[in-house]
Amino acid sequence: MKRYRVKPDSKVDLGKIDPGSTKGFKGGKEDAEQLFHPLNQRLLAIQESLWAEHKRKVLVVLQGMDTSGKDGTISHVFQGVNPLGVRALAFKAPSPEELSHDFLWRIHAKVPGAGEMVIFNRSHYEDVLPVRVLELAPPEIWRPRFDQINDFERLLAETGTTVLKFFLHISKDEQKKRLQDRLDDPAKRWKFRTGDLKDRAHWDDYMEAYEDLLQRTSQKHAPWYVVPANKKWFRNLLVATVLVETLESLGIERPEPEEDLKGIEIE
Ligand code: AMP
Ligand code: MG
Repeated sequence: MKRYRVKPDSKVDLGKIDPGSTKGFKGGKEDAEQLFHPLNQRLLAIQESLWAEHKRKVLVVLQGMDTSGKDGTISHVFQGVNPLGVRALAFKAPSPEELSHDFLWRIHAKVPGAGEMVIFNRSHYEDVLPVRVLELAPPEIWRPRFDQINDFERLLAETGTTVLKFFLHISKDEQKKRLQDRLDDPAKRWKFRTGDLKDRAHWDDYMEAYEDLLQRTSQKHAPWYVVPANKKWFRNLLVATVLVETLESLGIERPEPEEDLKGIEIE
């Protein structure tokens, strides 16, 4: 787990991190699938405690290129959670109203409240990704955002939110396969947008932008994990492990009943 966490201020060379890696795990796909079920059960138990305690909050940020598996991670890792306490949402290009505010305005409105777990499919990090790579705003605008993001996430952490951020790292070849699959499979065609090809054409610029944000915004209280994501089973296993281990270490307990229940008889 630790080997995939980005240390604050440390340089990241994504070219040296193999997206097909399964380092730290000895087994293969079948072993991973066997391990996954008990992990998922532990996640469900923690989520129920989080909701019952109704105090702390959890924010999970998923970033990655198109087809990196953000949707798949959500549907797989969070399967079975109680929808009462869990919300997942996807951030698209901002609307004119959103653009008329600061970039964190729409994000702050969606962070978890007490007892909630919220999963972001894309996030405020888009504001230093396409905005930078496609030059939607000049450097004077996006450069200060690293500090602004760190301050924002510190505010979240200091007010009871556990923030975990995952970069789903796939290779350019793997993206080609997955995009082709979206074109070929009628059930997946709805996901294909020609705009994705524009982002793909800027692959190297995106990798550079990711390296920069990983270095600048991985904080002790809001760490980034680089998740090798060519193999979906490994991606799911790693994300689930980080989540479960981190949340279990918080020691969230279910509250005591409000009154003394001794001696109560139900007829
Ligand atoms: P998808 O997640 O594939 O459905 O696509 C959502 C699109 O919205 C992606 O192309 C994102 O890059 C884009 N997007 C999300 N947030 C922003 C943002 N703050 N600025 C510009 N584009 C964004
Ligand atoms: Mg897309």
